[in-house]
Amino acid sequence: MPRTSLVLGGNRGIGLAVARHLADRGDRVAVSYRGGEPPAGFFAVRCDVTEPEQLKSAFAEVNAELGPVEVLVVNAGITRDRPLFTMSQEDFDEVLRTNLSSAFLACKLATRGMLRRGWGRIVLVSSTVAMAGAVGQTNYAASKAGQIGFARSLAREVAGRGITVNAVAPGFTDTDMVAAMPEDRRNELLAQVPVGRMADPAEVAAAVGFLTSEDAGYITGAVLPVDGGAGMGH
Ligand code: NDP
Repeated sequence: MPRTSLVLGGNRGIGLAVARHLADRGDRVAVSYRGGEPPAGFFAVRCDVTEPEQLKSAFAEVNAELGPVEVLVVNAGITRDRPLFTMSQEDFDEVLRTNLSSAFLACKLATRGMLRRGWGRIVLVSSTVAMAGAVGQTNYAASKAGQIGFARSLAREVAGRGITVNAVAPGFTDTDMVAAMPEDRRNELLAQVPVGRMADPAEVAAAVGFLTSEDAGYITGAVLPVDGGAGMGH
């Protein structure tokens, strides 16, 4: 059955790949974008996920155009990497606001309708860093680990109501986020990936596609690694 899906941060990288995957399987897909040009081919809503009023408007616009959100992908994310002793309060807070606090309101807005209809799928795009930690990423790792605790708690709250809440934990994925890293750091990370290459965003999208499918109704509170084996043992 075609569903209404909303991908937060769906204008590039992993989010855009997820939007394409969900559209290819027949969903009515909305994406949020923060600025610039919206991606072609989708119903796009402008929204900075750190602004609660913008998130509320985004949900209202999607609801009016495509119907209530049945599949929510919480994907918008940033890094502000620095060793803790040089990290500013703003670097910490901005990463938490973008990656974690946005999940709180987005899931709250989405679950209202899902509970009414007795069906819903939520996926948070976390990271292997949530489990392993990473130098310079105390803020990012805290936000990504927070997403997992959040997802599992919400999963328990709504498990009996036809709604699943899961996380994917991508490893090193070929997007602008990784392109912004120094080359020696990228090579160091690549050396830790058993598969020996970065993930294509489409490979993360396929995992999100599965977790948001009808077939995945008995999977909730899970963290699915998409990391070329880098996280084995966590
Ligand atoms: P990109 O930097 O390519 O894309 C990030 C996306 O998030 C963009 O769409 C961006 O919008 C959006 N975004 C950031 N801040 C905000 C905001 N305040 N409001 C609205 N949208 C915002 O990153 P990726 O595609 O690589 O990352 C997507 C997700 O995957 C993130 O949560 C990231 O942490 C996670 N991840 C990525 C990994 C990787 O190796 N690439 C590994 C593990 C997890 P805009 O274009 O306006 O900036």
